Amino acid sequence: MERPIASDYGPYYGTVNPVYGLPAPAMAAAPATSIHGPSAPPANMFDTVPGYEGTIAGGGGGYLPPPPPSVPMPVPEQAPSSPNWHIPSISEDQARESFATYVSSKCCYSSAPVKEGVITNMESFNTYRYRLETFTESRSTEWSQEPYTGQPVDAGVQPAPGPWQIAAQPPAFFQEHKQTIKVPYTSSVKNCHLCLGMGRNPCTTCAGSGNKVCWVCNGSGYRQSNDRCTHCNGRGRENCSSCSGNGSRQCDTCRGKRQLLAFINLIVKWSTEKDEFIAQDLSGLRMENLEKVSGKELFKDAQYMVYPVRGFPDVSVAQASERLVRDHQVKYTQTSLILQQRQTIELIPITKVKYMWKGKPYVYYVYGNEFKVNADDYPATCCCSVM
Ligand SMILES: [Zn+2]
Ligand SMILES: [Zn+2]
Ligand SMILES: [Zn+2]
Repeated sequence: MERPIASDYGPYYGTVNPVYGLPAPAMAAAPATSIHGPSAPPANMFDTVPGYEGTIAGGGGGYLPPPPPSVPMPVPEQAPSSPNWHIPSISEDQARESFATYVSSKCCYSSAPVKEGVITNMESFNTYRYRLETFTESRSTEWSQEPYTGQPVDAGVQPAPGPWQIAAQPPAFFQEHKQTIKVPYTSSVKNCHLCLGMGRNPCTTCAGSGNKVCWVCNGSGYRQSNDRCTHCNGRGRENCSSCSGNGSRQCDTCRGKRQLLAFINLIVKWSTEKDEFIAQDLSGLRMENLEKVSGKELFKDAQYMVYPVRGFPDVSVAQASERLVRDHQVKYTQTSLILQQRQTIELIPITKVKYMWKGKPYVYYVYGNEFKVNADDYPATCCCSVM
């Protein structure tokens, strides 16, 4: 209670701070930090808990490596059952219709090449997209605190269970989710470090004085006509509205409870990691176009850990599967637990259409389940210049 909160007490109008029992500075408001001290919890706030030594306040300690898997890594066995490799192709009418829709979606394109152009050749260049998704659970810990209101205090009652021994309820596979769990046997009670167990802190608006310069007389106590200021009764100061003249406010950290419960939180996070591979085709259509369309699903496989796809007609797809399955198993077993994997192969149809218009050859592509069109060399991109 005898702690000085500032060194130069103003001689005027100082009121006694009810919390600290000291006259508060009346004139200049000291910066808030010199009153409050550092806001970060001191090191001795948190005890050492065996199994949680790397835990820091506010998190940021990184994810915790899971225990070694109880099931051995899968070894590739047999190829997936051979699907029916039906290669769809589109009709000339479908190509024309998609082309017309595309051109009409561009406000300035003339439709003349669509109407007058003559299709000379249509060729299918289908390609494949391989996608691997890995659904993981990651765990991290952080020291936390909350106002102490009589919660169970159990630190040291028995050893805390390890971070991966605590049961969490996972969501459905491939759904993102996060859960925070108070780690049992880590809770202890500490004096609030921000208010030093007082439950209140000096008001920052009035620097703890409970009053401030009267706005009517600007501190003089008199009005222009030498009359006493009626607003402050000649004091020159008025009560601080932030603290109702108390000079102090309830501590935000302990919400006035004076004590904090310190404990470790376990944060469990479920997320889906995704990688894709699109096989190179010879159509000439740029690959990035294919990222925006869907294809026909040829193969789908979901299990705890998938086997790389084998025996697929396109060797690059099988290789991508081999590589990505291996990558995911290495990458996502270091700091997380793999709960499920899913792999798919889609066939993305691409049709290259060649046509002649006004004696010159042009090309467009129709691709994806959506019959999306790409026509980089469209000859009439400005309707005003084409008659
Ligand atoms: Zn006044
Ligand atoms: Zn105040
Ligand atoms: Zn406090």
